[in-house]
Parts: sequence; structure tokens; C-alpha cells
Amino acid sequence: MHKFSADRVFPVSAAPIENGVVITDDAGLILAIERREQHDPASLQILPGVLIPGFVNTHCHLELSHMKGKVHTGTGLIPFIMGVVTQRNAAVEVIADAIEQAERDMLAAGIVAVGDISNAPDTFAVKAKGRLRYYTFVELFDFLQEAGSDKTMADGTAVYEQIELAAGSRRALVPHAPYSVSTGLFQKIRDFNPASGITISIHNQETPPENELFLNKTGSFLDFYGKFGISMDAFQATGRASIYYALEHLNPQQRTLFVHNTLTTRDDIRAAQSWSEQVYWATCPNANLYIENRLPDYQAFMDTDARVTIGTDSLTSNWQLSVLEEMRTIARYQSYVPFETLLRWATLNGAQALGFEDSLGSFEVGKKPGVLSLQGLDAEGRIGRDARVERLI
Ligand SMILES: [Zn+2]
Repeated sequence: MHKFSADRVFPVSAAPIENGVVITDDAGLILAIERREQHDPASLQILPGVLIPGFVNTHCHLELSHMKGKVHTGTGLIPFIMGVVTQRNAAVEVIADAIEQAERDMLAAGIVAVGDISNAPDTFAVKAKGRLRYYTFVELFDFLQEAGSDKTMADGTAVYEQIELAAGSRRALVPHAPYSVSTGLFQKIRDFNPASGITISIHNQETPPENELFLNKTGSFLDFYGKFGISMDAFQATGRASIYYALEHLNPQQRTLFVHNTLTTRDDIRAAQSWSEQVYWATCPNANLYIENRLPDYQAFMDTDARVTIGTDSLTSNWQLSVLEEMRTIARYQSYVPFETLLRWATLNGAQALGFEDSLGSFEVGKKPGVLSLQGLDAEGRIGRDARVERLI
């Protein structure tokens, strides 16, 4: 049994507890949450700072870990994608070693679950060991070419079938992004997945050309497709931002996790949240800075009661895989976001987005969320330069 205590305990699902104690069994199952005065101090492991549940990273591409530092920063999404497509290939051992190292780094950074995009089966051996709880999103795209959607589905299904799910892990077939998935492929993905009870992840409004394509059929996505010899003759502008195309073709009965949302407006957020009660938003601030050098408008998400979650994206578009580093970036550039809001984004909201809140995301009796010691908060209790996290269990 463990009795962890700190100046403050943040259960996340309830108000913070001054001098709280989190009691777990040896495996980390929460047995009780109490106060220090109920205990013999000698029986407690007292830590500086605060105690928080383990982090949930809702957006990663673990299979791209070997490309760390290979693609330039600040180019914008389209040159970034070109960089990934042209430099992705590597020796099998190089890819496998980078995946294992990245998983170790996530564990050390206090991450307990990951929503992970897979285009290939490269990560499945690591995931089958069950050290982290994974929601694997097997991601499909046909570059808006419906004629190719049958082959895309066949290839994606073959990848999906190869996943060996560790206890508590899940999988789904998902569309990549509005600008890369035809209406026919959207429909096939929808038909393939169970009608409810799963999470669908989709990249959304990450770069201005994405909205330009849908609004006016203009912008650099046309050049991008041209370079690959892909015809856009059949594509018609919808006259609305790209997210509305996704809403038309996704299933509102499922949890939907929109990823990036750098250009998403208050109206877009409200439209999505009135379309479904199960909408979640993943923000990956460091990747947004890496690729586009801009951040979402978090005030818009707070004003609309949006359920924001935090993702790291991949090591191709980030300097590390750490939810704390994402929180630090938000606290630095949009410092009006309160600590407790950030904490909820980093834990319980992420667990709910992935359907893992049965055991993760908050300190509640019967859950096994991981226990982190967060130290070095500044005088106002905020995440500044010195904040660091240590995993206790
Ligand atoms: Zn991504």
C-alpha cells in the first residue's frame, strides 16, 4: 500500500484538498482520498508541490518518432506534410528503436494513456505490451479521390486487423482530415465502425489553406495536389469552413475528437457542439508552434465550455512527447488559462475523450489513474519555467 501526500491534492473530478492523502494499493488502485490529520505522519510519503493524476495524451503519431529533427520548423503545414511523406522511410530497426524510446519517454513524463494515429503496424508490438493504455486510430485518406476509396479501405482494414489489443486498449478506423477524405471514404469508415461507443479522431483546421480550399477552392492545397498529379476537377467548394464538411459526414452518436483547431472560431465550436454532445478538442500547442508558428484561440474554447484535451503530436513536429511541456507552452503564451483548467484538459477531459474515464483521469476510489508529483509551480501556483513532474506510480 502507498500513502502519498502533498500540500495540495488535485482529484480533478472534485475540489482540491489541502494536505490531502492519496492511498493506493501496490498496483496504484485508489483505495481512499483523505486528509493528513487522519494519519500518523510517519506512515506517509510526503512530497513537495502538488499531487495530480496521470496525464492523457490524446494525439500522437508514435510511428513517426524516428523523424525527430528531420523536418524544418515554421514552414506551414503543406511543406511539413511534404517533408514527412518524402522522409518517412527508414530501416525497420531504426523505426522500432525510436518507437520504444518514445514510449519510455512518455512513461517517464507521467503519461498513462495515448490516442495514437497509425498508418502502418509499426507500433503494434510495443502497444501489445500494455505499458500504456492506447486508443489506436488507424487513419485513412484517399486525397479526395473516391475512386481509390475501396483500396484505401482494404489497406486500412488490413492494418486494423493486425492490432493485438492489450487490456483496456481500443481501436477505430478514422478519417485523416477534411481536405484528404472523399465523401465515399467517410461513408465507408462510418459503415465499418460500430454505430456508437467509440472515439473518432480527425485533424481539423490546422492551416489557413484548409479553410480556403473549402470556402473558395483556392489556396495552396490545389498546388499540393497538383504536385502529386492528383486531379481536383471533381472537387467543389462548399463555401463553408472545412469542419462543416466533416460534420456532414461524421456520426454524431460517436465521440469525436477534433485535433489542432488552430483556425477554429467560436461559431465553429458552437456548431460542432450543437451537432453532437460528444465533441472533444485536442490541442497540440508545441506542434502548432513547430509547424505553423501560431496557436489556437483558447479563450474561444473556454467561452463555449468546450471539452479541450491535450496532445503532443509526433516527434516529427515536436521537441519531446510531454503533456507538461504542452501545458507550459499554453501557460506561457496564453497565461489567462487557469492552472486548474489546464489540468482538467491534461487529465480527465482526455480520459473521457478516449472513453478511458472508467479508470483514468481523476483521483476517485476504484480508479487506477497514476499518481504524479508536480513540483516547482510558481508563487501563484502556475506552471512556469521550473515546473517538473515525477511519476510516483
Ligand atoms: Zn497529427
